[in-house]
Amino acid sequence: MMAYKNLFYFKFVNDEDKQRVIDHEPLFLLGRIFVVRPWTPSIDKYRNGIKALPIWIRVDLPKHLWTKNGIDFISSIIGEPIYMDDATARRTRISYARICVVVDIEFKFPSFIPIKIGEGDIVDIGLDYEWVPDLCTSCKIFGHSNSKCIKNKEVSARNPNHTTTDG
Ligand SMILES: [Zn+2]
Repeated sequence: MMAYKNLFYFKFVNDEDKQRVIDHEPLFLLGRIFVVRPWTPSIDKYRNGIKALPIWIRVDLPKHLWTKNGIDFISSIIGEPIYMDDATARRTRISYARICVVVDIEFKFPSFIPIKIGEGDIVDIGLDYEWVPDLCTSCKIFGHSNSKCIKNKEVSARNPNHTTTDG
């Protein structure tokens, strides 16, 4: 295993173990998320910080969108869909749909998205996030908030008279 700050490489002895880990949903450990993906050359870009993350969202889905296509449609408007939970897939709990989508650093975590359905009205679809990651708009990465950013601290150090309230 080799590791950068936010990126670890694992080598598996057999393909069966590897597939089992890749098929697993993202793991939350100690408040941090671990996502296992097959290696590709482009994955090395994560070495410089996490620019996209899978997050679980509870979607207040209108009843007529409770179809595979309806759920896929809403998911793909939010981000890149990867999973839905079992209760959503089997529609055993229709109070909300629980989906996992990859969102990027530009994602604003809106509390609803307006959707125009067919020729009909625009419907606001409520979104509830199980976890909102820290993100830094200076570094344009997930993992730390603006107030914890080293870049912001450097700016304050260079300007000793500069006062800040987010401390
Ligand atoms: Zn930063």
